[in-house]
Amino acid sequence: MPSHVLNLIEGRLVPGSSGHTLDNTDPATGHVIGTLPASGGADVDAAVAAASRAFPAWSTTSAGERASILRRIADLIERDLEPLARAESIDTGKPITLARTMDIPRAAANFRFFADACENPRVETYRTDAPMPAPGGSGAPGGGSMVPGTALNTVLRRPLGVVALISPWNLPLYLLSWKIAPALAWGNTCVCKPSELTPTTAFMLSKLSVEAGLPPGVLNIVHGLGAEAGAPLVAHPGVKAVSFTGGTATGAAIAASAAPMFKKLSLELGGKNATIVLDDVDVDVPWAAAQAVRAGFSNQGQICLCGSRVFVQRRVYDAFVQKFVNKAEALRCGDPLDESTQQGALVSAAHHAKVLSYVDLARAEGGRILCGGERPKNLPGRCSGGFFLRPTVIEGLAATCRTQREEIFGPVVTVTPFDDDDDAVRLANDSPYGLSASVWSADTRRAQRVAERLEVGTAWVNCWLLRDLRVPFGGMKNSGVGREGGDEAMRFFTEATTLCVGGA
Ligand code: NAD
Repeated sequence: MPSHVLNLIEGRLVPGSSGHTLDNTDPATGHVIGTLPASGGADVDAAVAAASRAFPAWSTTSAGERASILRRIADLIERDLEPLARAESIDTGKPITLARTMDIPRAAANFRFFADACENPRVETYRTDAPMPAPGGSGAPGGGSMVPGTALNTVLRRPLGVVALISPWNLPLYLLSWKIAPALAWGNTCVCKPSELTPTTAFMLSKLSVEAGLPPGVLNIVHGLGAEAGAPLVAHPGVKAVSFTGGTATGAAIAASAAPMFKKLSLELGGKNATIVLDDVDVDVPWAAAQAVRAGFSNQGQICLCGSRVFVQRRVYDAFVQKFVNKAEALRCGDPLDESTQQGALVSAAHHAKVLSYVDLARAEGGRILCGGERPKNLPGRCSGGFFLRPTVIEGLAATCRTQREEIFGPVVTVTPFDDDDDAVRLANDSPYGLSASVWSADTRRAQRVAERLEVGTAWVNCWLLRDLRVPFGGMKNSGVGREGGDEAMRFFTEATTLCVGGA
């Protein structure tokens, strides 16, 4: 695993121009394992300049050329699956099995998907029957006759130019590749700012992109703090669009900076997602409880789509919650590099402290801790200084209290009873966020009726985290603006010109 991360600018791996670095800490041990450049405005300027120089040539390559480079990157990610998964596990604290089966394969899949997409673009054409100026008419105002005719409208798409791609720490390579792949596929050049907490797989991707033959300057990656490297990137006049995934407060700051410059903005922000369990589920079959635990605690609850508010219909509430708590308690907490670990560490000391502060808040708000709320016991010695928290389930909280309304982004789930379908919809929608939800029921039609009323970007019925890369992905309310995925990504990363060709 590389310990000294470098920036990628114009195809070269370089330190930050100031020479200052930040520490990279392994959250499972609390030890510093390496450094990354503390980049600033000068590095951003150099990266944007490199991307601007690369744009004219890259934007005029054929879709086939771009697709074949993207597929080579996917091949190289798959070749390096194991070292990438190990690096992701060490940087984030997530179980290595999760990095190996989800993060890294999905990163490769993103490159393949957008390679296919740019080779087979959806082209919008519309035929319009309308009166047309008669051929040979005078063209004078009010002069010349009109005759029946037809126009053919075609929506032409061209790349934007240099785009800024800013990503968070929870799914580092996966979410970064989800932005890089469409940006490059549609002919843009980019400057990326990965999270300062998890820089390593982005650095490894830098090297793979060079190995894959990506021309210098097409992809640039600048590491550093959000305020020092991210903010100047967003504000840079050479950047035409900003695609951001991260916290809601950061998204608001980015919008305030970018919107007055009329930059295109895609903001994928926080969530406080509902898991709704209807009373027709058979609680003796542990299916729904097992899936609710998976939705609540995967990646230690640090997936924006995690179901952190579980609503259970009153008739099955006690039996379900008992099963849910048993399953949460049974999750094996431990060394993320241990193959049998199901719950690793939280990403940083600061985040660990923030999540624990919400457990204290829940107690103060009158919540009962049904399990967790403390460090796991029996961690291996190597992990004694790591940032661990047992899966935590809390009940007895009003839907209006802060614990139920604010994003915690850790292994903390609240459970709340509801009376009927209307009540479930009301509780689930009573949130400042609107990213996703899941509904669990033996009656798929009933669950679907509930799901259709939820104010979210993605509503799952009897499944969770199932992602088809063709469908729009994003959130409403404080969960974001815009959608990613499939044609939505094409629309975001291109500018449209409607060509209207009339004919009498
Ligand atoms: P964050 O907002 O703190 O940081 C995200 C990125 O933005 C980092 O690279 C950071 O350095 C950068 N940044 C910070 N301040 C900036 C600024 N002023 N200008 C430009 N860049 C800046 O988020 P985080 O803590 O890394 O990630 C966790 C959050 O991300 C959670 O809220 C989670 O819900 C959200 N998230 C959302 C999705 C989604 O698809 N909606 C997916 C994953 C994570």
